[in-house]
Amino acid sequence: MRLTGNGVSPGVGYGPVRRLVRRAPVPPPRDRHGGDADAEFARAEAALERVAAELEALGRAAGGVAQEILAAQAMMTRDPSLRAAVRERIDAGVSAARAIYESFAVFHDALVRAGGRLAERAGDIDDVRDRALVALDAGACRTSGEGSGRGSGRGSDTGTPAAGGDAVPYVIVARDLAPSDVAVLPHGSVAALLLEEGGPTSHTVILARAMGVPAVVGCAGALRVPEGAVVLVDGDTGQVRVAPTAAELARTTGRRAAHGPATYRPGRTADGCPVALLANIGSLRDLPAAVGCGAEGVGLLRTEFLYLGRRARPQVAEQRDAYRTVLDAFPEGQVVVRTLDAGADKPLAFLPPARHEPNPALGVRGVRAYAAHPEILTEQLAALAEAAAGATARLGVMAPMVTTVEEAERFVRACHDAGLPWAGVMVEVPAAALRARDLAEVAEFFSIGTNDLAQFTFAADRQLGGLGPLGDPWHPALLDLVALVAEASARAGRQCCVCGEAAADPALACVFAGLGVTALSMAPAALGAVRRALAGHTLDRCRAAAAAARAATGAQAARAAARALLPALGDA
Ligand code: PEP
Ligand code: MG
Repeated sequence: MRLTGNGVSPGVGYGPVRRLVRRAPVPPPRDRHGGDADAEFARAEAALERVAAELEALGRAAGGVAQEILAAQAMMTRDPSLRAAVRERIDAGVSAARAIYESFAVFHDALVRAGGRLAERAGDIDDVRDRALVALDAGACRTSGEGSGRGSGRGSDTGTPAAGGDAVPYVIVARDLAPSDVAVLPHGSVAALLLEEGGPTSHTVILARAMGVPAVVGCAGALRVPEGAVVLVDGDTGQVRVAPTAAELARTTGRRAAHGPATYRPGRTADGCPVALLANIGSLRDLPAAVGCGAEGVGLLRTEFLYLGRRARPQVAEQRDAYRTVLDAFPEGQVVVRTLDAGADKPLAFLPPARHEPNPALGVRGVRAYAAHPEILTEQLAALAEAAAGATARLGVMAPMVTTVEEAERFVRACHDAGLPWAGVMVEVPAAALRARDLAEVAEFFSIGTNDLAQFTFAADRQLGGLGPLGDPWHPALLDLVALVAEASARAGRQCCVCGEAAADPALACVFAGLGVTALSMAPAALGAVRRALAGHTLDRCRAAAAAARAATGAQAARAAARALLPALGDA
C-alpha cells in the first residue's frame, strides 16, 4: 500500500506505527455540581492553572521554538474571558467539567468561524481543553455523577503521546498533532511523523524539523494504516509505503547511502563558489545539533526564547550570557541575531498588543513594536554589545518585519550607537523585497524570511494546511522577489541569506544560489543534504536552474524545470 502526502521535514523514517488518539473524558450534557459553586469553580481554576503550568514546564524542558509555542497555549488557558465563561456556567449549576467543555467549545467555534490563522488556533484550544478535562479528572472527587468518552481529535490522553520504553523507534500516526505533543516526543524513539492533516509550515512541522524528525503531513489515508504495521516515511518526497518490500527498503536506504557520509566542508558549489551554510537556532538547546551538523555559524538566532513565560524583561546580564554562549560555539564563524520578533504568532505575556488586532500578522509586530517599547531594543543591543566584546565570531544583528527605509535607518543607527557594526534587516514583506535596492543603501546585510514573505506574497496563511500549495516557495513570484533582493545585495556588496524553511530544500537551495543568494540558514538536520546538493552542481548550473524556474508559470512547473537541470540531486 502506498500513500502520498507533503514531505515537510527531511530524512527517512522506518518503523511500526503508533497511533495517537486523544482519550479525554467528555462530560455528559446535563452534568451538574452538588451546589457549592465556589468550591466547584476553585476546582476548575486549579485544573486550568495546572494545565498552564504543565505547558510552561513542557516548554521549558523542550526549549527552542517549542517553548514559545507552548507559552502561547498557556496564555490561552489563563484567558480571563474564558475563566469568566466557566464561572458563569458553574454559577448556573453546571459541573466544572461540563463548564470547561462548553466554554472551550464557544471559543473553538468562534475561531473556526473567524477563519484564517485564527481557525488554525482552534486545534490548540482543543488540546488545552482536553488537558484541562484530564487534569480535572485526576484532581479532587467530583460532586456529581460523571460520564466519560473518547475524543477523536488530535492529542493524547495525558499529553505524553509517545510513552517511553519502546526499544524500536516507531512512526507516530495521527490526524494532527498539537505542538505540545511534538515537544514531548522522546528523542531517538520516534522514527517519523505521519499526519493525515497539518500545514507544511505549521508550528508542529517547524518543531519536527528542529528535532530532526522526518515528517509527512496532509497524507490522506494515514489513519487507516493499522497500529503496528511497518511503514517507510520519506520526509523528502512525501512518499509513504506500508509494509515495504526489501527491494523498496534497499532502494530508499541505498539512495541515502549514495550521498555518502556527511562532510563538514564549508558550503560550496561544485566549482568552489562559497555559499555559507548556517543554522537556525531557537534556543541554546539547539546549539549542539548546529555544531554537530557542521553549520558554519548561525544565520538566525530567534531571541524570543529569552522572553517567553516572563512577566518582566530578562536582565541584560542574562541576555549577554546567552548570546555569548552562541558566539563562542562558532569562534570562527558568523552569528546573526534577530532582535525580538514579538506579536502575531509570537505573543509575549509582558508585551500584549495595545489594542485588539483583527489581523495580528499585519499588526504591531516585529520592528514595529519597538516604537512603543524602545527599552526592549536598547537593552537587547546593550546585551549583544557586551557579549561581542572579546568574542571572535562575527556578530550580525537584524530586525524582523522591516517594511520601509525609515525603519531600517532607525534600526541600523541604533545598532551602530550601541557599538554593533554589522546591522541588517529581514526581508519578509514584499515591499521590502521590491525596494531592496533602497534598503541596501542602509542595511548592511539581508536575510530573507521566506515563511512570512510567502505568506504575504500569496496572501496565504502559513499555518493553514489547505492553503499549503498556494504558499509554495517554488512559485516564480517568490523567486522573482528573492532575485530582486539578491541583485540589490550584490550591487551593494552585501551578504544575502535565506533563512526561511525554503532554504532546507536541496533543489531550492541550488536555485537560491543561482539567483545570487550568498548564505543559507536552516534547521541543523537539513544542512547535510543541502551541502551535498550544492557540491554536486556548478554555479552556472544553479543559475540555469534558477532561470528555468523563473521562466515557468507555476510552482510545480518551476520545480520540475529546475530539477531537470540539477542531475546530482537524483530522486532525492
Ligand atoms: C520567516 O518568516 O521566514 C522567518 C525565518 O521567521 P519566522 O519563521 O520566525 O517568522
Ligand atoms: Mg518571520
